[in-house]
Amino acid sequence: MANKPYKITLIEGDGIGPEVAGAARKVIAAAGVPIGWDIQYLGIEAQNRFGTLLPDETLESIRRNQVALKGPITTPGSEGYPSLNVAIRQQLDLYACLRPVKSFPGVRSVHSDVDLVVVRENTEDLYAGHEHEVVPGVIESLKLITRSASTRIARFAFKYAKDNGRKKVTSVHKANIMKLSDGLFLDCCRQVAKEYPFIEYGEMIVDSTCQHLVLNPKQFDVLLMENLYGDIISDLCAGLVGGLGLVPGANLGDTIAVFEATHGSWPEATGKDIANPTALILTGAMMLRHIEEGEVADRIESAVCCVLAEGRVRTGDLGGTASTTEYTEQIIEHLSS
Ligand code: NAD
Repeated sequence: MANKPYKITLIEGDGIGPEVAGAARKVIAAAGVPIGWDIQYLGIEAQNRFGTLLPDETLESIRRNQVALKGPITTPGSEGYPSLNVAIRQQLDLYACLRPVKSFPGVRSVHSDVDLVVVRENTEDLYAGHEHEVVPGVIESLKLITRSASTRIARFAFKYAKDNGRKKVTSVHKANIMKLSDGLFLDCCRQVAKEYPFIEYGEMIVDSTCQHLVLNPKQFDVLLMENLYGDIISDLCAGLVGGLGLVPGANLGDTIAVFEATHGSWPEATGKDIANPTALILTGAMMLRHIEEGEVADRIESAVCCVLAEGRVRTGDLGGTASTTEYTEQIIEHLSS
C-alpha cells in the first residue's frame, strides 16, 4: 500500500449510499487516518453525469489505487447489465467475497454468540446473470461453474481460515441435485481441504444449512459457497445478528480490494437520514485493516460496539429513533473515549 496520505477510490453509490458512505468517511477522518478520496461514480449517478453506467475512469481509478470503498448501487433494468456489481467484480477479478458476521453486544437477536464468516465465489454461477428466452414463455439461465474458479475460492477460504485462526470450513452446496456443477465445486473444495489437514472440513446442503444456521449458528466457522448461495446466505446470516444495517464485507482479488457492505441501496429510504451506517463504517474498518491501519480499525470497531451496547442512540432498524447523522456523531464521540 502507498504511503500516507492514502489514495483510495470512493464510490458513494445511490439510494442510501451517499448517507452511509458519508458516515463512514466522517468516522475514518475523525479516527485520524489521512485519506485522499478519489471520488468516482457508478450506476445511476454515473449515467446522470457521464451518460454511462460504468465509466472506464471508475475502473481505472480502482486499478490505480488498488483499494476502494463502495456504497450500494441500484442496477437500472434497461441498460444491458444484469448487475453492475457483478460487472465490476468480474472486470476487476474480485473473486472472493468475504462477509464476517458477528453478534453485537446489546443488539437483540435470536442468538447472542454468532461468529462466522461467509466466503462467496464472486465471478460465476447463475448469479452472473446469463439468461435468454429460448422461445416465448421459456427462459434458460446458465449456471457456469469452473474448476479454476472453484479451486481459487476454496484456496482463499482455507488460507483465510489458517491466517485468521479459524478452525473449520464448511462447503455449502446442492450437489445432491446439481450433481455436475455443485459436484465439481465440492470436488475442488475436497482437493484443497487435503492441503489443510489442520483445518476441519465439512459439507452441508444449502437448504439444510439455512435450518442449521437459524437453529444453531455456533456450529459454523467459515462457510464456503458459490455465488448465488452466498448472496442468499449472507442476508440470512445478517438477520442472525440484527440485520443488514450491521454486516460489513469486502470483494477481494489478488491485488485489488473493493470494500462494500452486504446491504443494498434501500431506495425507499433515500435522503431520509434513517439508514443504519454501521455496516459501511465497519466495512471502512475492514478496509483500514487491509491498508495496515489495524489499530485505527480496532478503535472504530470498539466505538461502534460501545454505542450499540449502550443502546441509547440507535437507528430505527434496531428499535431506536436516532438519525444516521446522530448515530454517526455518537460513534465519533466514542472514538476518543
Ligand atoms: P436492500 O439491502 O437495499 O434492503 C432490504 C431491506 O433491508 C430494507 O428494506 C431495509 O429494511 C433493510 N436495510 C438495508 N440496508 C439497511 C441499512 N443500512 N440500515 C437499516 N436497514 C437496512 O435490498 P433490496 O431492497 O433487495 O435491494 C435494493 C437495491 O439494492 C436493488 O436494486 C439491489 O439490486 C441493490 N443491491 C445492491 C447491492 C450492492 O450495491 N452491493 C447489494 C444488494 C442489493
